[in-house]
Amino acid sequence: MTMQLDEKLEGIYQDVLKRNQGEVEFHQAVREVLESLGPVMVKHPEYMERKIIERICEPERQIIFRVPWQDDKGRVHINRGFRVEFNSALGPYKGGLRFHPSVYLGIIKFLGFEQIFKNSLTGMPIGGGKGGSDFDPKGKSDDEVMRFCQSFMTELYRHLGEHTDVPAGDIGVGGREIGYMFGQYKRITNRYEAGVLTGKGLNWGGSLVRPEATGYGATFFINEALRVRKDTFEGKTCLVSGSGNVAIYTIEKIHQLGGKCVACSDSNGVIFHESGLDLNLIKQLKEVERRRIQDYTQYHKDAKYVANGNIWEIPCQVAMPSATQNEINGKDAKLLVKNGCIAVGEGANMPTTPEGVKVFLDAKIAYGPGKAANAGGVATSALEMQQNASRDSWTFEFTEKKLEGIMVGIHNNCYATSEEYGAPGNYVLGANICGFIKVADAMVAHGLI
Ligand code: GLU
Repeated sequence: MTMQLDEKLEGIYQDVLKRNQGEVEFHQAVREVLESLGPVMVKHPEYMERKIIERICEPERQIIFRVPWQDDKGRVHINRGFRVEFNSALGPYKGGLRFHPSVYLGIIKFLGFEQIFKNSLTGMPIGGGKGGSDFDPKGKSDDEVMRFCQSFMTELYRHLGEHTDVPAGDIGVGGREIGYMFGQYKRITNRYEAGVLTGKGLNWGGSLVRPEATGYGATFFINEALRVRKDTFEGKTCLVSGSGNVAIYTIEKIHQLGGKCVACSDSNGVIFHESGLDLNLIKQLKEVERRRIQDYTQYHKDAKYVANGNIWEIPCQVAMPSATQNEINGKDAKLLVKNGCIAVGEGANMPTTPEGVKVFLDAKIAYGPGKAANAGGVATSALEMQQNASRDSWTFEFTEKKLEGIMVGIHNNCYATSEEYGAPGNYVLGANICGFIKVADAMVAHGLI
């Protein structure tokens, strides 16, 4: 159930399919952007002449490497490492690392492709890239995670640098993993190059608000979208899928703004707590003790756990998918709208299938696609780089204000672009066009490279 592309764009898309066989998530991400670009090509024939879209769809560099490591029993394991350096028109490659068993080239390429436009939308000088591994951190000891991170960085370090490529976290990579990778990078290069990774610890070059940034940012974006509709979070019932870093700080900000989150989840099941989620408990279980969300019910007898449940069946007014790609399908989207959902803010990358996106756009609800709504994480990474470059560290209040300003700016730019192209309030169109044009203009300026 996809939109028609004009003939030239369809040709480019067919070429992407042929050149990147089997990489279905990458195809999906490319198609979604191309569907917005028809009117841009009419206004800017120079982009077609210079084959800007064909070039944007082809990563500048793709690195795939072996990651051997030993578990606590001395057994040898081999994983595969990736870094796709997608586009450096606006700055050094920037984007997270994902450690998850589902990782393969198609996932890293979809994420890297999205990252180009997301990073452009932040207004910060950062290009797009992404990396990771099919390593599964679940159930691994701290030492095993450390050995894996060290082996991963022993290969990756040669491709990185504060002016070249700056990774950060994503699913399965948080402060602990960034620490082990930073330590290994420092050891191999003999350089204290703080700006080579973001998401660092506070006492060794990290930025306040970075852990909170993706969730806070997504909530700021939807808060702004609600404001345009003369509405607020006050008293709204909200669903936040996932229970990792993005979900936790989405819940925190929604509660600060007067909303009530009643459910969250992990890959095993859903927690429903009608009187409102106990965020301190979720933080303790997930961040400190690294336990599963199921254990929540041991502390709150009135909460329900549904193994393999579907969170989107719970009626809500605001949904914030913050788990992973394609977690909302067409059926889920219809159910959400039918149950009275008026806003969806994507904390995760590409959490809604094309069928689901169509449902949200047709229903004209406030739908903030990931590349706009979740840009607060990488934007705050760029703020971390700014602090590293000036050997400074900012207060929580100052940094949070900056983040809020960036998110309001992204919202307004997407909104203005959606109006300019005749679809006011369509943030998908607004984000794709606004993010694309800035990269395209820089590529034209840099010549054929
Ligand atoms: N992984 C995050 C994202 O999807 C953050 C990337 C970063 O901070 O570089 O944008």
